[in-house]
Amino acid sequence: MQVNTNEAVKRLRELGARKILLQLPDGLKPDVFRYFTEFSREFSVIVSSDPFYGACDIGNQEVYGKVDAIVQLGHSVIPNIEYPLPVIFVEYRSEARVEIDPHVFDVLARSGYNRIGLLASIQYMDHMEMVRQVLAASGYQVQVGRQDSRMAYPGQILGCNFSAAHSISAWADCYVVVSTGKFHGIGAQLASDKPVYILDLNFRRLVPMKDETDMFLRRRYARISRATGAHKFCVVVDTKVGQYRMKLASHIVKQVTEMGHEAVLVTANDARPSDYENMRCDAVIFTGCPRVPIDEEDRFPMPVLTPPEFQSLFGSHAGGRYVMDEIVAVDRL
Ligand code: SF4
Repeated sequence: MQVNTNEAVKRLRELGARKILLQLPDGLKPDVFRYFTEFSREFSVIVSSDPFYGACDIGNQEVYGKVDAIVQLGHSVIPNIEYPLPVIFVEYRSEARVEIDPHVFDVLARSGYNRIGLLASIQYMDHMEMVRQVLAASGYQVQVGRQDSRMAYPGQILGCNFSAAHSISAWADCYVVVSTGKFHGIGAQLASDKPVYILDLNFRRLVPMKDETDMFLRRRYARISRATGAHKFCVVVDTKVGQYRMKLASHIVKQVTEMGHEAVLVTANDARPSDYENMRCDAVIFTGCPRVPIDEEDRFPMPVLTPPEFQSLFGSHAGGRYVMDEIVAVDRL
């Protein structure tokens, strides 16, 4: 995995930047010496060693005032975030040349699906056209969904935003997500009532997400049902620039209080289980990245709910269909 930094260097020159903060995802950290050397030829560079998972997180705020710009490798910009200083995103796009056997898609025709909604995670945006052509040549109708203002590209999905799927949900019979791993597929399936398949280009196979998602939901419901008797809630606002939902958290605090329970409003840049244990809360409602309550649930001794999960347990949609927590926009920090 490598990214080309030439464009970023050009942009930094245009900005007149001298000092920069360099953020690398874990997959690129083994090459940090190479990237550091490349940027250090012209700029004074500090590398952030903190983990981060998206363009919603531009590192430690204490460093902002000390640099002229941030260079983040691996992700695409989230267009509707007001970043507090210039951030240059150097996307990672898979350059692997892949040929797909059209028979991979036979299961779609056998299931009676003809109208296919095509989605992708950022690494595979460049492969969407190839996949669209293979599907179209096999007689399928294909549409790439329109994204909302949190997303950079048509058809692109993030773990917190499936707007491209929603935009064609009335039309599509099912979705094909070009990605690897199950994270985006399960998220898309949770966000949609149409079948979702992951097209895994590494293994050249189409994987249905329904069974995985059902298993996930069983585990998740078991976990969130433990919050039913909760009385004391920590409502957490994450202070990362692209996860900051203060208005939503304040609304939930009000709702909890009106229900006769106790709530405290908590800010954090890193959700640490020991902090909430120490606060003796029965449950946490987490308004930052939905991956924290969903993917990292085993880290926490108490139930950690997303805002829609809280509403499904205690709010007006109690008992309804599972609603994925999606971030459309955030508040200004
Ligand atoms: S909020 Fe979570 S899923 Fe969304 S971009 Fe940030 S890390 Fe990714």
